[in-house]
Amino acid sequence: MESIRERAAHVLGRVAQAAARSGRKGEEIRLIAVGKTKPAEMIGEAIEAGLAVFGENYVQEAEEKIRAFPQAEWHFIGKLQRNKVKKAVSLFSWIQTVDSLSLLEEISRRAGEAGKVLPVLAEVNLAGEESKAGMDPEALAELIEAAPGLAGISLRGLMAIPPWTEDPEETRPYFVRLRELLAECASRGGAGPQMTELSMGMSNDFEAAIEEGATMVRVGTAIFGSRVRRAT
Ligand SMILES: *Cc1c(COP(=O)(O)O)cnc(C)c1O
Repeated sequence: MESIRERAAHVLGRVAQAAARSGRKGEEIRLIAVGKTKPAEMIGEAIEAGLAVFGENYVQEAEEKIRAFPQAEWHFIGKLQRNKVKKAVSLFSWIQTVDSLSLLEEISRRAGEAGKVLPVLAEVNLAGEESKAGMDPEALAELIEAAPGLAGISLRGLMAIPPWTEDPEETRPYFVRLRELLAECASRGGAGPQMTELSMGMSNDFEAAIEEGATMVRVGTAIFGSRVRRAT
């Protein structure tokens, strides 16, 4: 089996090549190593391999890892429960999965109390899947209008988890759609010039996502190996 160091180097190389195909440099893309279900020591290996940005899905599980490696940049990418917002705000540098205005307001309130300004992304449900989190475009418009009036947060862009398929080419149209949505948000005004981030693409399709404009890709399996499914 390959080591985390080898896999990380391989993924970084693929990120750089995909970036070059879209006229960018690899360093312009944040590679977010997704460590859910993986122990803190594997995060340590990834840091030694040169990775600096990590994504976690569960606040509780993340806490120990974040305390062990506070020098890394930590992104929350899971379903955020209201009663975990305070803790999430204190632990994470970014929250990527804002899927309602009321959640954004709660993050704003808690970040305000903590004297922070937290960068956040709005999660969009591109395929209208009922089982998935994320806002439809209408709710997104409402959130974008409200965001400038909220202290403690800075709305920096969009995030999506398209329906999974084996073939990245089937996912590509969703990446294009998210890029177009961001452009529409910008042209409608109110979004602010800081709204430039597109978090899309996972182990199976991050190269296609980068080719379509991703500024952040969230890669778990290709770095840490496969996960045992868990019931949560
Ligand atoms: C688990 C997860 C990932 C990483 O998935 P892989 O297919 O293992 O790369 C990315 N984004 C989110 C939101 C996740 O929950």
